[in-house]
Amino acid sequence: MQKERIFIAEDDTQAASDLFAILEDLGYKVVGSAISGESTVQMVGELKPDLVLLEIRLKGKMDSIVAAKQIHDNMDIPVVFISTQADTMTLQTAMLAQAYGFVLKPFNAGELKSDITMALFKHSMNRKLRESEERYALAVRAANDGIWDWNLQTNEIYYSIRWKEMLGFKDDQISNGTDEWFNRIHTDDQRIVQANLVSHLKGTSSHFECEYRIKHATGKYLWVLSCGMAVRDARNTPYRMAGSQSDITSRKIAELRLAHDAVHDPLTGLPNRVLFLDRLQNRLERIKRNPSDLFAVMFLDLDRFKVVNDSLGHGVGDQLLITIANRLMHCIRNEDTVSRLSGDEFAILLNSIPDINEALQIANRIKAQLKTTTMLGAVERFPTASIGIALFSEKYTKADELLRDADAAMYVAKAQGGNQYRIFDATMHTNAVELIRLEAELKRAVEREEWVIHYQPIVSLTTNKAVGAEALVRWNHPHRGLLYPKDFIHVAEETGAIIPIGEHVLRSACAQAKIWRNSRHPDFWVSINLSARQFQDIELTKKVASILSVTGLDSNGLHLEITENVAILDMEYTNNLLTELDRLGVQTSLDDFGTGYSSLSYLKQFPLKILKIDQSFIRDIQTNKKNESLIMAIIAMARSIGLEVVAEGVEKGEQLEFLRNQLCDNVQGYLLSHPVSASDMTRLLED
Ligand code: C2E
Ligand code: MG
Ligand code: MG
Repeated sequence: MQKERIFIAEDDTQAASDLFAILEDLGYKVVGSAISGESTVQMVGELKPDLVLLEIRLKGKMDSIVAAKQIHDNMDIPVVFISTQADTMTLQTAMLAQAYGFVLKPFNAGELKSDITMALFKHSMNRKLRESEERYALAVRAANDGIWDWNLQTNEIYYSIRWKEMLGFKDDQISNGTDEWFNRIHTDDQRIVQANLVSHLKGTSSHFECEYRIKHATGKYLWVLSCGMAVRDARNTPYRMAGSQSDITSRKIAELRLAHDAVHDPLTGLPNRVLFLDRLQNRLERIKRNPSDLFAVMFLDLDRFKVVNDSLGHGVGDQLLITIANRLMHCIRNEDTVSRLSGDEFAILLNSIPDINEALQIANRIKAQLKTTTMLGAVERFPTASIGIALFSEKYTKADELLRDADAAMYVAKAQGGNQYRIFDATMHTNAVELIRLEAELKRAVEREEWVIHYQPIVSLTTNKAVGAEALVRWNHPHRGLLYPKDFIHVAEETGAIIPIGEHVLRSACAQAKIWRNSRHPDFWVSINLSARQFQDIELTKKVASILSVTGLDSNGLHLEITENVAILDMEYTNNLLTELDRLGVQTSLDDFGTGYSSLSYLKQFPLKILKIDQSFIRDIQTNKKNESLIMAIIAMARSIGLEVVAEGVEKGEQLEFLRNQLCDNVQGYLLSHPVSASDMTRLLED
């Protein structure tokens, strides 16, 4: 062990040498000595001993008290006074100079030893304490924490200036009361803070730690973290508790945002699939307690959303999704959940309904809400959706089973033309599976061009001859035989397969028309149906022109059919496209007239040439007088704006007679001919 180094300041040379001898004897090292205050201060500064023994009544300019204070304050070295007497005066003087002890002359080795040991020990303890205090003060300052110190006996709390500042108050604006703290805590958090405090005071938890909201002077709430620890007496009863408070608002906000983002859709702000399934699962658990309180799940998929996205761009698509999300929110109650699952798929949890009728009412409300006009940029839309509904029953134990069934019902609604809802029933499972298979098969059919085109003659009522034919596509399915449009067109439209199918029909029918024109029917034309997607294709006119030039067909040998629903998607676009086609010399007809908006006012602005009255009107001839007069009106109006009229679905002689009397131009229907193969059509033309 290293020897402790001691400095002696004693002007009595005899006493000094005695002291020297005893100290060396005791095992200390005497590093130096002095006889005046000034030289003591100077030498101690240079030698830095562990302890100074200092005669309390040194002669000279600087007295011992001043010297001792300087050594204590500036050098942090303990001073023990030497004196011949221990009167009160002397002791007080020693204490004033913050001495670490007091030894009496003449010296006694034992006492000297214990006094020096005690002084050195006390000094080292003081140093440690001071260092730790400084460290703590530094840490507090660096962490920017507020401090509180709670006297549990008087129930007063000392709040540091920083604690008060954090809440927006000056030092004198907050008292020592506990209310200053606890009354500012957010009511939702008061219980948790209290529980944590009690648990620590009772000794259940090793320390107190709690995150909660506390009211700032501005009235806003801060998030703070409060940590603390109780001090206990011998009987383990806490009598004091102290701790810190730090502002964690920004961290908390970031955390809350992260937690929110993880379960919400960024575009619409709606709960995402994860949150939806979670709520649905909770609901499923809850129904066990109250089985009569029913709920249902709706699965909603926008019709032809891809068309919007592809033709008007993703920005517009996003805008539409936001609009739809808002409209859906309007159709439900607070306790229900609307969620965006992905793309254009939404799900709704109807949290509590008496029976299925309520779900149907809401579905109707949604249908009506969605269809209200939507401006997308400069474009008007009438969005529709396909909705599947699954009502809770005991067979369901998992959330995704309900969602899956609602999805299956939605598929059926979609396959039946969209803009409608279906309630799930057990047969739909197979349907959904079939639909997925159909999508895959369609893809393959496109590659192998498994298409057959049938032609149905369109007959002029003036000449009683076929003037043209409508091209109608069929799918020659490798296992299921010939399939009709109703079995696959909707799916093809949804998946986009309709584009290659449509182009195939265009190419083949134009080539076929060219053949018929070359063989003694120079004015014969074909009429081809355009799907919504084809119509949205900005390259359409170019493609048509190219097919005409490749097949060598004159543009007046081709008619194109569009439906009202497609035409009104975007009036300006429709007008431009029809004008382009008109310039090219291709005539356009409005198909299925009477099933959609049936507004002749907008028809007038389009360069349309032909109006095809839907077969549902023709079917009613002779059975429904109101419809007869409607047909008369339609024909008259069409004529007045220069449109040719074709009646579709003519099956009976009486219908034909009626149409002839109304001066309808052309007719099409089973009465005249079913759609037939190209070769049969050729034979028909020859007869
Ligand atoms: P559409 O354009 O209105 O075609 C007329 C439909 O009525 C055809 O059904 C035709 O077979 C049927 N039809 C004709 N005469 C009668 C009749 O007297 N009575 C009855 N009950 N029906 C008659 P099809 O061929 O099943 O086609 C259905 C729909 O599929 C078409 O309706 C059209 O919208 C669509 N479609 C057909 N081919 C194509 C195509 O190549 N491309 C596109 N995009 N759609 C097509
Ligand atoms: Mg048609
Ligand atoms: Mg039609």
